[in-house]
Amino acid sequence: MAGDFGNGYDEVLPVVDKPREECGIFGIYGPGFDVARLTYYGLYALQHRGQESAGIAVGNGSKIRLAKGMGLVSDVFNDEKLGSFQGHLAIGHVRYSTTGSNNPANAQPLVFNYSRGMIGLSHNGNISNIAELRRQLSSTGSVFQSTTDSEVIVNLIARYSQNSLVEAIVKSMIDLKGAYSLLVLTENKLIGIRDPFGFRPLCLGRKGDAYILASESCALDTIGAEFVRDLEPGEIVVIDEDGLQSLQSLQVPRRKAHCIFEYIYFARPDSRIDGFNVNRVRYEMGRQLAREYPVEADLVIPVPDSGTIAARGFAWESGIPFEEGLMKNRYVGRTFIQPTQDIRELGVRLKLNPVRHILQGKRVVLIDDSIVRGTTSGKIVSMVRECGAREVHFCLSSPPTKLPCYYGIDTSLSELIAAHKTVEEIREYISADGLHYLSQEGLLGIFGEARGNFCTACFSGDYPTYVPDPNLQGKLVFEEEHGCG
Ligand code: SF4
Repeated sequence: MAGDFGNGYDEVLPVVDKPREECGIFGIYGPGFDVARLTYYGLYALQHRGQESAGIAVGNGSKIRLAKGMGLVSDVFNDEKLGSFQGHLAIGHVRYSTTGSNNPANAQPLVFNYSRGMIGLSHNGNISNIAELRRQLSSTGSVFQSTTDSEVIVNLIARYSQNSLVEAIVKSMIDLKGAYSLLVLTENKLIGIRDPFGFRPLCLGRKGDAYILASESCALDTIGAEFVRDLEPGEIVVIDEDGLQSLQSLQVPRRKAHCIFEYIYFARPDSRIDGFNVNRVRYEMGRQLAREYPVEADLVIPVPDSGTIAARGFAWESGIPFEEGLMKNRYVGRTFIQPTQDIRELGVRLKLNPVRHILQGKRVVLIDDSIVRGTTSGKIVSMVRECGAREVHFCLSSPPTKLPCYYGIDTSLSELIAAHKTVEEIREYISADGLHYLSQEGLLGIFGEARGNFCTACFSGDYPTYVPDPNLQGKLVFEEEHGCG
């Protein structure tokens, strides 16, 4: 469902069985530009990464002003509010809560006063040693206003404030474990940081003399900026009146661990991340699925929109015609009234409707990107059968998600069907005639020589950093083993 606001509606209409996305961040250093409005449009382009809250902080050389609230970017900001924000640098954030509950205190950017002035922070990712850091900071006097791990990062930076800000960030990065792409704002500096494994994306762009940092390149396109490059894992870029300066953190692991789910599901298909076009990767996933599962069928049907690009790839490779046999209602919004108990069986139909004249009498390959609980997939299979499909084969453009993510994606072990059932048991559970998941080898093979640069922990258990769950210890490959230090 990448590129689609649908995920934000799941609480009012729990029919989409997908991992929850993380956050989107956007920053600009642009004297002479309307930085608040450009940030607003940048966040608009990143709305698929989080719909629970949105915020913008603007610096003007002497102070930072902040506005944030719950809801979509368009709910939180209006013309008047944006017009009142004068300054030459800004950061913004769209959030789906990962660590920290969904409440206004956790909305970002966070802005604090500390001994060297004001500091703002936008964070995408999840710190996996957060409990330990919070304990350490609390025991030496830190007071927390929110439950987010992002506030712990700001406190950590403040703790090292006897150093310059950049030195404090470098020291903090030694303490932080896990996933973080960060934007730090002061009254006159914009700083972009990517964690040493590069879990979450962060790219650099230019628009005239302005520098832009964004989670995905689609945000650069939206504001008419040019893509320059992705930040390297462990890279810190400092942008101020002297231009851009790049430095490397002290931690340089021998491996990269970009989240492979960005390509499978999270990122917008028109984005380019770490050298790969998301749309192209999804298409190749579909082609590889067709090679791995050479089924005899009449039609390839996507589960819209999450399976659409892979379904096109499957159809091209297999020669089986592509048809849109499931229609999606694109106007199911946040204010959608929850179905009452007696009409709850409408369920998936409120959002997806099968097209009978396309499906009747056909052997169908349904393509989606992933299954979390399996409940929605089962409902979709039965809807397609009720419309007269003779056979329904379900194909997923990712391997089975068996383990939780500690790096910014909200899935728990108890809800992951593949953690508790075999592929055959899942096939039976969703009542499909066939079920095939893309193999991990097939998935990684799409990236050629870069195949070793990805985190696959939720499929493989190869967690690149410390994670707090002792039950996973046997499955871990710790960072020491990868030469981090
Ligand atoms: S565990 Fe899975 S979702 Fe989390 S960062 Fe790794 S690949 Fe991405």
